[in-house]
Amino acid sequence: MSDLIDWHRRAEALRIEGRAYIDGAYVAAIAGETFDCINPATGAKIADIASCKAADVDAAVAAARRAFERGEWSRMAPLDRKKIMARFSALILEHREELALLESLNVGKPITNAFNGDIVSAATTIQWYAEAIDKVYGEVAPSGHGMTTMVIREALGVIAAVVPWNYPLSMACWKLGPALASGNSVVLKPAEQSPLTALRIAQLATDAGMPKGVLNVVPGFGETAGKALGLHMDVDAVAFTGSTAVGKLFMQYAGQSNIKRVGLELGGKSPHIVMADCSDLDAAAQAVASGIFGNAGQVCNAGSRLIVDKAVREKFLEKVVEHASKLSAGDPLDPATRLGAIVSAQQLESVLGYVEAGRQEGAKLLVGGQRVRQESGGYFVAPTVFGDVLPGMRIAQEEIFGPVLSAITVNGLEEAIAVANNTQYGLAAGIWTDNVKSAMHASRALRAGVVWVNCFDRGSMAAPFGGFKQSGFGRDKSLHAFDKYTDWKSIWIAH
Ligand code: NAP
Ligand code: MG
Repeated sequence: MSDLIDWHRRAEALRIEGRAYIDGAYVAAIAGETFDCINPATGAKIADIASCKAADVDAAVAAARRAFERGEWSRMAPLDRKKIMARFSALILEHREELALLESLNVGKPITNAFNGDIVSAATTIQWYAEAIDKVYGEVAPSGHGMTTMVIREALGVIAAVVPWNYPLSMACWKLGPALASGNSVVLKPAEQSPLTALRIAQLATDAGMPKGVLNVVPGFGETAGKALGLHMDVDAVAFTGSTAVGKLFMQYAGQSNIKRVGLELGGKSPHIVMADCSDLDAAAQAVASGIFGNAGQVCNAGSRLIVDKAVREKFLEKVVEHASKLSAGDPLDPATRLGAIVSAQQLESVLGYVEAGRQEGAKLLVGGQRVRQESGGYFVAPTVFGDVLPGMRIAQEEIFGPVLSAITVNGLEEAIAVANNTQYGLAAGIWTDNVKSAMHASRALRAGVVWVNCFDRGSMAAPFGGFKQSGFGRDKSLHAFDKYTDWKSIWIAH
């Protein structure tokens, strides 16, 4: 039971690994440089992290390529690869306390969420793809007598996975699961803010029996390590999760180098619509609150725009504001805490900058809007709700990535859909209505990769996840994720 563990005591005893993991061993960066890893709940430094540059990326890609060519993993019988992946998943779960602690210390996430959510989700993802390995078949094309045409999936080779800091381990595993299961080698670059769990699980993969060089981790900065991966001539594909701006860079890197495949899971400004015919406004208000305040709003599919019908606006906003007022930020290592820190001082400044922009553009601050728990040295923001937001305002268009809800009032379903679709993003959308026609109409008209009706933020490994428009392309999760890590080959056999 997570709440029986004294997390602060455990944290003091924790040994943190900050070196890169290349070719089956922890190594310092070639130039010997490191950068500070900060606990955003206290502002204190907790580790030195290897600052990988182009030379380190070269070494990691070369190790990954050698492993792929040796074939111990890429040509391993599916059943054997499956056993190693399953052991890898089991080891993640066995180290659940340690990994949850690393994640919480690293990004200020409530320990309860890391322990019950992130780490379990990471292990589940690896297990799910382990189970899928020997259940995905190729095809035989109809080519008539005298010819047999097989259509088979082949691993691409070396995959670069570049991931963000909001769910460091589970986002990484969304890439690692299908990439490794299909036989590729991987070089993983965690976000500069959140390298700790990625570095730890690299060793667990080796302990599970994964051959050296199959999984490499290069911590470092986007502009150096990330860019070197994007431009590398021997990387076959980049699987990226992060901002739209950096996603665009990866497409450019691909064009400037070897036309590597690019899969992009990018930002969002997801609309959460509440219609007047929703009979359970309490459930909707609860979902709207957790849809924007969960993980302190640092969620790609956060329901950051509430689009509410004017007939229920007053009473609905009251309910949401009540949820916001009851939720207070706390010590992430206290199992009772539900609202943790913002990931960095820079992100804190950015969130508070958007609050200021909202005020200046004339939106009405209904609750929150300020930094809290400053005495802790950490970066915390109170749950914030703006009313009277107009669709063109910055807080209605730009991704804030903090616990800030922008409420827009509309008149009827058509206006709700039009406002919902009026951003560059298309990651996810939600709608609350009792009318089946409205629900069906909206779910088709909303331009988003995921639509939730009378629920929000639901998901499982069985359903794909990813965006429309500038929220990216390609899908994580489900068997469709294999498309990012494999190519089809047609083999014609005359007989
Ligand atoms: P980010 O700045 O785009 O960073 C993502 C990754 O790209 C990090 O590893 C980063 O390294 C690297 N990077 C940054 N600049 C780079 C460059 N010039 N060249 C190559 N790589 C570079 O995003 P973030 O701030 O970490 O995360 C927040 C964003 O991720 C939000 O926009 C959010 O919506 C999105 N997100 C999307 C999903 C999804 O599934 N759609 C899920 C989670 C998050 P550094 O850390 O060193 O900058
Ligand atoms: Mg970044």
